[in-house]
Amino acid sequence: MNLDQHLVDAAVSQMDHRARTAAAAVYLQDGRILTSVCLDNLNAAATLCAETGAICQAYTLGASITASVCVSRWEGGRGFSVLAPCGICQERLALWGPDVQVGVADLEAASGWNVRTLRELNPFYWGQHFADGDTWPSSAVHAS
Ligand SMILES: [Zn+2]
Repeated sequence: MNLDQHLVDAAVSQMDHRARTAAAAVYLQDGRILTSVCLDNLNAAATLCAETGAICQAYTLGASITASVCVSRWEGGRGFSVLAPCGICQERLALWGPDVQVGVADLEAASGWNVRTLRELNPFYWGQHFADGDTWPSSAVHAS
């Protein structure tokens, strides 16, 4: 499944449902959507990005993620912003290959967001060193 408005809407719906300032939604290869919110904590070192819950759930299910989007809204704000995955979430999503689509902010787009692949987001991904003759490390390499 390709990243589309439906996935963005799912993330915004999750953000509103939990009254959080950020949420994420991912498409699985079979078209299912998983959503999650960031894990807040008094100890900032214990917090987790909004994508983390959905990523862990997909991994638990043995399912592949094809697209991921994170949305954020400042407190009291009405609209929302699409946030590109942070470096750690890019590392987490790399498990499913360079063609995973992610949402990025695009102020020139009417929607305010656009789609990029992980490879486009990070063309010099360090893990390519471990690709073993391919262009991206396999899931098995990631899990070893
Ligand atoms: Zn992150």
